[in-house]
Amino acid sequence: MEQNNRFKSPQDPEVGRFLKSLGIHPLPTRLPYPVPNQVNAYLIEGDGLLLIDTGLNDDETWETLEKDFARLGHTFAEVRRIYLTHGHLDHYGVARKIQDLSGAKVFIHPLDRAKVLAPTPEKQKAEKTLYQNYLVGAGFPEEEVDNLLQISEAIRHHAIPLERLEMVDDGEIIKWGQVTLKVMNFPGHTRGMINFYEPRHRILFSGDHILPDISPNPLPDLDAALISPAPEPKNGEAGPDPFPRFQSLIQYLVSIQRVLALDLDLVLPGHGEPIVNHRQLLLDLGRFYQDRQGKIMSILGSKELSPMDISRELFPGVSAFEVILAISEVVGNAEVLEEQGKIIREIKDRKIHYRKK
Ligand SMILES: [Zn+2]
Ligand SMILES: [Zn+2]
Repeated sequence: MEQNNRFKSPQDPEVGRFLKSLGIHPLPTRLPYPVPNQVNAYLIEGDGLLLIDTGLNDDETWETLEKDFARLGHTFAEVRRIYLTHGHLDHYGVARKIQDLSGAKVFIHPLDRAKVLAPTPEKQKAEKTLYQNYLVGAGFPEEEVDNLLQISEAIRHHAIPLERLEMVDDGEIIKWGQVTLKVMNFPGHTRGMINFYEPRHRILFSGDHILPDISPNPLPDLDAALISPAPEPKNGEAGPDPFPRFQSLIQYLVSIQRVLALDLDLVLPGHGEPIVNHRQLLLDLGRFYQDRQGKIMSILGSKELSPMDISRELFPGVSAFEVILAISEVVGNAEVLEEQGKIIREIKDRKIHYRKK
């Protein structure tokens, strides 16, 4: 365990000086959401420019990026490569526009590729069915599902779909300017989440894998189910399991252990300020999830509840927009409890129920 962090705080002027000396420039842009309300791209100077993520597709983001590029004495035309940490629209939204201007290659992990492509009508239909089944199976009122899906449909324009894409995988090495980045796949937030580790300078570009103030939601990653079908049923369940088990939080917690094994002074996240004390943050995060699982256990008591029932008690009054996040938080934590043998998951009438073992 490190006793002293190299940097005192995210505001430590040494952080900015250190990054600048390596040709690394954070490019924060505002997001039109309550939380998180901003997203970070990172520009790395070398033989041309490399970008990690881009921000989403709106006028304000574009103007901010233009100003920041100009301030640094660069133009979009100099961008050679864009690496996407994962396929969420606030991270890849404007990559296509920069690619069209510069001819840059855009890289993504194969497991997140489908997220950034233009949805075909068949894919849209399959995805809609998946979400409907997932939400109804989780106990969400059937008559409200369409409304909810329209909300996520409404923010689709925050990203321009990509067509020309290169794949990048775990273990690949990228030499760029003064840095040598090792690509690491950390499944959890999405299956194809990649981070970039700079061992010599002890930096990790963490995307949404590690964030300073919010726990990265273990999203159900439903479109991944379009690529690989649901696993075989277990726990003696009869017939095929109608609900894929994503185990995103279980995978996430494994990925966190892999980060703890790295020597790091600085974590550069997809949202928020640089992280100078990642070990403490990850220990706190572990405790946060344990606490949440404890709450789920006490909500369950001697009852048999759906993910939606639990989510109503755990997060009273969440907005419609946040319901999917609230449900996935419950399902993710319940999967951990199930794996630990503390609760049992049963499917009755095509709906999920949990009870204590
Ligand atoms: Zn994300
Ligand atoms: Zn994000």
